[in-house]
Amino acid sequence: MKKSGIVKSVFKWLNNYFLFFLLVAFVITCCTMLFVSTLRDSLNITLTDENISAAAKLTFWNVVLLTLIFTVIDAVRRKLTVERPVKRIVEAAEKIVKGDFSVRIKPQSKFGADDSFKRVIECFNKMAEELGSVETLRTDFIANVSHEMKTPLAVMQNYGTLLQTPHLSEEQRMEYAKGVTDGSRRLADMMTNILKLNRLENQKIYPKTEEFDLGEQLCECLLQFENVWETSNIEIETDIAENVIVRADAELLSHVWNNLFSNAFKFTEAGGCVSVTLTATDHHAVVKVKDTGCGMSKEVGERIFEKFYQGDTSHSVQGNGLGLALVKRVIDIMQGEIGVESVVGEGSTFTVRIRRA
Ligand code: ADP
Repeated sequence: MKKSGIVKSVFKWLNNYFLFFLLVAFVITCCTMLFVSTLRDSLNITLTDENISAAAKLTFWNVVLLTLIFTVIDAVRRKLTVERPVKRIVEAAEKIVKGDFSVRIKPQSKFGADDSFKRVIECFNKMAEELGSVETLRTDFIANVSHEMKTPLAVMQNYGTLLQTPHLSEEQRMEYAKGVTDGSRRLADMMTNILKLNRLENQKIYPKTEEFDLGEQLCECLLQFENVWETSNIEIETDIAENVIVRADAELLSHVWNNLFSNAFKFTEAGGCVSVTLTATDHHAVVKVKDTGCGMSKEVGERIFEKFYQGDTSHSVQGNGLGLALVKRVIDIMQGEIGVESVVGEGSTFTVRIRRA
């Protein structure tokens, strides 16, 4: 602000208060004069009219001066402790409105620090941080979806172009058509998983709990993979306790077993072994899905429940990194626990604990 501007605003501000100062000074002078004249009468002191008028003038201007000084001090205090932090908060909020989530407000200096503003600033910075991470998740999610869509689309395009070649043999035509259907199935699977995850995350579907035999459900899910283990020559071992009743959403829970089994078969080479055990403690049912597959490193193990994370890229065509994110979400909704123990080259064991009915 220019010097003349500051002087102008000071005068404008004084002008606003001027009448108020005069009124205060007048009231206080009247009170003092009343006090002096009562004192004079009761103590029998002789005071001339000049004496009283001089005292009145002195009191009046004294009060005007003191009020002015205190008002200026208060204005400076307000500027430092209220207006300045409010201005900083408003500026930061405006940046957030424009989509800049990197903005943070510096904590107030010790001088003039007000506890409530300190708290507001802390909460504001926390909110900006949270909004920033949500935004990163959102952009990462969009980038991941777009990336995952590009590969099957490119494959489908190539096979589509090949299908247009004249005079194809029946075998070639079938191969190219299969390429197109595989690509579209992959896209459809990904969309189904994204929708499921989205519905689970937004809590639009609430678990329809019912009591059922967990052992029976595990066997039913496992049997759906019979073709897979027979064609890949994988040995199956089961040790499933009887009468383990759980109260859960059966459909949601079956997604968990299907994902764990499909991963176990996917990451286990021919001749390997997949075992499924169900045991029960007083309050929990414990399911272990163990394989003798490729296993995973500690770093991979820590990230497998993230959306779109694929540790083992050699099998990436058969998945989209959403399976275990879904599994984790379902287990969280059921207030259960899931963990993995794995050794590279030796295999992995996924352990799920859910409450018994
Ligand atoms: P995808 O469907 O792509 O396999 P998942 O979310 O099911 O995605 O798995 C994420 C990653 O976890 C996989 O890319 C793989 O690296 C690792 N993983 C999951 N299950 C196993 C397993 N049984 N053995 C080894 N690695 C596994």
